[in-house]
Amino acid sequence: MSTLLTEAEYEALASSIDIPSNAFIDGKFMSARSGETILTTNPATSEVIAEIAACQAEDVDYAVAKARKAFDRGVWSRMHPSGRKRAMIQLVKLMKRHHHELAVLESIDSGKPIFDCETIDVPESMEVIAWHAEAIDKLYDQVTPSGDDALGMIVREPFGVVAGVLPWNFPLMMAAWKIGPALAAGNSVILKPAETTSLSILKLVELSIEAGIPTGVLSVLPGKGSIAGQALGMHPDINAVSFTGSTAVGKRFLEYSAQSNLKRILLELGGKNPCVVLNDAENLDYVAEQVVEAVFWNMGQNCSSNSRLIVQKGIKEELLEKVIEKTADWRTGYPLNPANRLGAINSKRHYNSIMKYIDIGKKEGAGVVAGGEAITVGQGIYIEPTIFDGVNNNMRIAREEIFGPVLSVIEVESASEAISVANDTEYGLQASLFTSNLKQAHRLARELQAGTVSVNCYGEGDLTTPFGGYKQSGLFGRDKSLIANNQYCEVKTIWIDLSDNDLDVDLS
Ligand code: NDP
Repeated sequence: MSTLLTEAEYEALASSIDIPSNAFIDGKFMSARSGETILTTNPATSEVIAEIAACQAEDVDYAVAKARKAFDRGVWSRMHPSGRKRAMIQLVKLMKRHHHELAVLESIDSGKPIFDCETIDVPESMEVIAWHAEAIDKLYDQVTPSGDDALGMIVREPFGVVAGVLPWNFPLMMAAWKIGPALAAGNSVILKPAETTSLSILKLVELSIEAGIPTGVLSVLPGKGSIAGQALGMHPDINAVSFTGSTAVGKRFLEYSAQSNLKRILLELGGKNPCVVLNDAENLDYVAEQVVEAVFWNMGQNCSSNSRLIVQKGIKEELLEKVIEKTADWRTGYPLNPANRLGAINSKRHYNSIMKYIDIGKKEGAGVVAGGEAITVGQGIYIEPTIFDGVNNNMRIAREEIFGPVLSVIEVESASEAISVANDTEYGLQASLFTSNLKQAHRLARELQAGTVSVNCYGEGDLTTPFGGYKQSGLFGRDKSLIANNQYCEVKTIWIDLSDNDLDVDLS
């Protein structure tokens, strides 16, 4: 774990840090060709911290041409696997050297608590890149069981140019989840950060050149989704887009693909994830801690946030009391204070959307048993962790992804009712299940319709496990694990005739 600094030290770093603001193409920082910029503010203070290049279609064309050239020259795609591995490991070493800087940039840009940036976002981003780098020279292709007269080989080849269109909730980590496997497979990669959170990603790519990743292989195009994002989606020379964000925009990428070149689309989308706690769950203090982390971590701005607590009647009151008590431990406040576990909401637009849902919940007749209001900390935008009791699964607060610190508590009679309520959603990203009955745990884990089911904990697995969703939580997109690595490759069959054509064939 990284050593935490004091608030004053983080403040000093934030005010002295060199804030990157230009696009990064072909190994160089450059402004958008149009000269347009977007203002980026620190949501914890509402101060403008940078004017970021707002890339347009012409910047996308330029970056794609450079990425394609790098790919075709083979400077990365055909580099010896051990060379690609070395460069990516070197990138991780440089990230380690700059980890306080990366953490501070992430925090001031997104509103995330520095505690999380230092202990989760930056270290996990390094680990995922290192994991995929280490895999590069350990993956074998296949020879098929096709007899002596033919040699059948199944080989994986990088797609070519891959775009990663990123969300604002885990900027650096989502960049790492994309570039780890995509670069490991030999692709050239172009990242489009969310318009509110480009800084840590720009810092990361700056380090990539020093690490030995050749120019043109890794680029960053900050800008608006409706302009730069759409231009990437529609570009005829991009082979694949890996997207994390809302289901609505994910569907747009399928349209872009259909209207352009049938580029591969990998989607990791939203969730309305259930946390199911049954009467036989052990140690309700621990369960309550997990429930609170599952919903409020990252201010609930998390696609795997367990925003629905589906709890069996026999333990509901006792568990809810403990959940309310534990919520108080998650102090909300200025993100650069390492004692705070919750920071600011990412943007004013998103803050308004969460407050609207809190209002909807009140009007729908659910009862606020914790929070329910905005918090004043200077000029920043903060919302109290909020718990609604007496929710039924038809209410909008139980059906729509709020993506904020809002928990809906739904009481059920039985385990079977719990599972049917849990599955009664258009999403299927993650589900948590708490029970002490082993047989029931296995059976219900199978019945829950989600890409990841964690039992007796809240979790997304680790680097070795794929992460992605069922139903409208995703399409093909699985981040992490070797499945992610395969996902950035085309599969080619090579079939070689080995039969002896000189043999006389006796047809008599
Ligand atoms: P979006 O899905 O709108 O944004 C994700 C990325 O897509 C951003 O880089 C964005 O750019 C880009 N984008 C937006 N519109 C387009 C477009 N028309 N064509 C191409 N790219 C586009 O998420 P939001 O940031 O607006 O958040 C809205 C909701 O999405 C949240 O409330 C939450 O429900 C969900 N979400 C889910 C995430 C997850 O982890 N699965 C992450 C983020 C959001 P730009 O920033 O410029 O808009």
